[in-house]
Amino acid sequence: MSPRKNYPKNKRPKSDDRDIATSNQTIEEHAEGSYVVRKITGSTSNKPYRCPGCDQMIPMATPHTVAWLEGDEEGRRHWHNACWAKRSNRKPRTERTRNAPRY
Ligand SMILES: [Zn+2]
Repeated sequence: MSPRKNYPKNKRPKSDDRDIATSNQTIEEHAEGSYVVRKITGSTSNKPYRCPGCDQMIPMATPHTVAWLEGDEEGRRHWHNACWAKRSNRKPRTERTRNAPRY
């Protein structure tokens, strides 16, 4: 029998996460680091935001995406869902696939 112990699952989010509803929150890995990504249904937004993806305004009460680098919630940005998805799909090595072997 192995004497290995299970670590207790006691890790809790930091207290400054308490203001944020975590239900729709996910972590996405990007080149710059881990992004906290939150889907907004629109009902909670009460002012328009400018999307950094297309530089257009996101009208009030529009479902959209809020994302920020983990630990940098102050720097969070509001994105159109489509613009965030486009950004996620953008890979730095798009030209490399031409001669790549297929699996
Ligand atoms: Zn946009």
